[in-house]
Amino acid sequence: IATNSHSPPSLLRFSFRSFSVRAMASHIVGYPRMGPKRELKFALESFWDGKSSAEDLQKVAADLRSSIWKQMSDAGIKFIPSNTFSCYDQVLDTTAMLGAVPPRYGWNGGEIGFDVYFSMARGNASVPAMEMTKWFDTNYHYIVPELGPEVNFSYASHKAVNEYKEAKALGVDTVPVLVGPVSYLLLSKPAKGVEKSFSLLSLIDKILPVYQEVLAELKAAGASWIQFDEPKLVMDLGALELQAFTHAYSALEGSLSGLNVLVETYFADVPVEAYKTLTSLKSVTGFGFDLVRGTKTLDLIKGGFPSGKYLFAGVVDGRNIWANNLASSLDTLKALEGIVGKDKLVVSTSCSLLHTAVDLVNEPKLDKEIKSWLAFAAQKVVEVNALATALAGQQDEAFFSANAAAQASRKSSPRVTNETVQKAAAALKGSDHRRATNVSARLDSQQKKLNLPILPTTTIGSFPQTMDLRRVRREYKAKKISEQNYVEAIKEEINKVVKIQEELDIDVLVHGEPERNDMVEYFGEQLSGFAFTANGWVQSYGSRCVKPPIIYGDVSRPKAMTVFWSSMAQSMTKRPMKGMLTGPVTILNWSFVRNDQPRFETCYQIALAIKDEVEDLEKAGITVIQIDEAALREGLPLRKSEHSFYLNWAVHSFRITNCGVEDTTQIHTHMCYSNFNDIIHSIIDMDADVITIENSRSDEKLLSVFREGVKYGAGIGPGVYDIHSPRIPSEEEIADRIEKMLAVLESNILWVNPDCGLKTRKYAEVKPALSNMVAAAKHLRTKL
Ligand code: GLN
Ligand code: ZN
Repeated sequence: IATNSHSPPSLLRFSFRSFSVRAMASHIVGYPRMGPKRELKFALESFWDGKSSAEDLQKVAADLRSSIWKQMSDAGIKFIPSNTFSCYDQVLDTTAMLGAVPPRYGWNGGEIGFDVYFSMARGNASVPAMEMTKWFDTNYHYIVPELGPEVNFSYASHKAVNEYKEAKALGVDTVPVLVGPVSYLLLSKPAKGVEKSFSLLSLIDKILPVYQEVLAELKAAGASWIQFDEPKLVMDLGALELQAFTHAYSALEGSLSGLNVLVETYFADVPVEAYKTLTSLKSVTGFGFDLVRGTKTLDLIKGGFPSGKYLFAGVVDGRNIWANNLASSLDTLKALEGIVGKDKLVVSTSCSLLHTAVDLVNEPKLDKEIKSWLAFAAQKVVEVNALATALAGQQDEAFFSANAAAQASRKSSPRVTNETVQKAAAALKGSDHRRATNVSARLDSQQKKLNLPILPTTTIGSFPQTMDLRRVRREYKAKKISEQNYVEAIKEEINKVVKIQEELDIDVLVHGEPERNDMVEYFGEQLSGFAFTANGWVQSYGSRCVKPPIIYGDVSRPKAMTVFWSSMAQSMTKRPMKGMLTGPVTILNWSFVRNDQPRFETCYQIALAIKDEVEDLEKAGITVIQIDEAALREGLPLRKSEHSFYLNWAVHSFRITNCGVEDTTQIHTHMCYSNFNDIIHSIIDMDADVITIENSRSDEKLLSVFREGVKYGAGIGPGVYDIHSPRIPSEEEIADRIEKMLAVLESNILWVNPDCGLKTRKYAEVKPALSNMVAAAKHLRTKL
């Protein structure tokens, strides 16, 4: 660039910036809010505990926002999002923007502040929180809007505009992001008392005026682009729903004139009909597509893209932690450039980076080679920009060749490939694995050995984790206490838990899982092919984050993982002691999974490792083995057409783990959710001997679904009380619930157990609750 040597330095910088803006088009859909070291989590929790002020929280939030904007701006990103930050959830932010506060929170109008906002999110002393549910197929949870014909919408949170201005004041012109009006309504539920048949979409003309006010303010503040997230477009939508998009975006036309409008989709490809609807929206100038999960997106675009419009090509994966294959992305982008034109292609992320870890910089202990294969949010921003720069003809050769070297090392690294495992897993495909004997006959053989009473009692696995217990584990990990001391401490804990259960007179015992911090991490740490991060947190909901393990290579089990503790526990009692394992599908669904082979292959590998463990437990004399599949349902694909493929390999993986055991070995599984209606046949096809499930809503419909399916006679234990609440259920209440179950299910298949593990409860709650549970079971036995 020819620069005038007399230009002041600031002007020089400016001219460089404006050059880069013209040549490189890069965009980020959204960014994690928690901060590189979960700064937001700690600020929120301290505020909620009354330990810090609203101003303190605002300050932390503002600092995080400004550092995120600065980081993207420094990286050279052209389209930098604002309003993707949130103190809780972006859908709740939209509810606040629309003033759609359910009446029970006593909001009296005016700008919505922290108290009303956090009351909706978390409840308060007198009112429970709004419902939370999974955000598509991610592990993020959003607050479900409760809407009905009575809701008076009004512009009640200026957050989007404030954040736009805040960034602008920092010198960053951003693209404000709003949850699109149609997705917002489709993500809502009818409020209590509103007829189920109420059409949420009928509210569209009531919410659009608020959107119009927001748009007017954004325009007035200087915004030139606006992004509407309309992820619902990737779902199976009907004609009415698609019409709502056409209607909404033409109704907004006036407000959108003078603005560039991006409609962003993610998590899958957009079905053909939806693609037609979307790309014919006149008021929209740019369309964002997921090119990572959206396997058909490329063909859709090749089949026709409106001329003169922008394509935001999501080639950098926002759902995973792998470094992008830059060379291959560049090929894709060049092909797209041929279709949409050089100046209309924008390089982007597949979805918001909210669903990946924050910054690799905070992983100094991670193995160097593995680290070279990874990219967290901060690194993905750089990748997006590198691709945009390369497209503009200024490829950063050093960056690209380092990336190519890392890709090559990942392909050829002996740490990734284990021929034996590959072969064993490949052999499973297409074959079937089932126990030879049918479930009723198996249960008969098991009963001869176990001799359990009718309505047998058990628990789901974990017992309360005290501060002392957590400290022991932590100190052992940090090598502050010896192995011997650690084993002694855990043994003592197991002994305590066994004694408690014997005193309570529970029939099938558990060891309490004191040696486990987390049900996936515990196994991942002992399997090969897994890596762990120090700060690779991903927001799950509110201030809660999870730190998924990274599956980078073929999975195998070098040695037994639970046999030591389970046999120790069994030796302490004459009663059956359940072996306790996490199932392959749950391990898979709660990890960052490698992207260089299909998910089912990785799942089969884990299944084989768990199979070895199951068989070792059996050899060690453990006769009841529980294989938790808490997350099986979570992996269900977004579109119905893909359900059966997933369910087939997921259920197959589960069966692989236990197809080799004796008839007399009883296999339990546990799932902590209750919406089984659509997958009941798959659950039955898992062919477990006993299944314990959540049933906190004591839903008779759920039970009848099971009765239909479980006619062949497998055991079922719908939770008799909710462990998520500190409340102690009375004996009568539990008995009442069991009786309701008995009205639907046969008494000889019914088990009595809590909803889930007891890890997060206190002994003072657990002991009386379990005591009431056993009393209720005993009482009912006398009546049968
Ligand atoms: N066995 C596990 C426990 O009791 C199951 C936890 C779960 O289902 N999330 O903690
Ligand atoms: Zn559970």
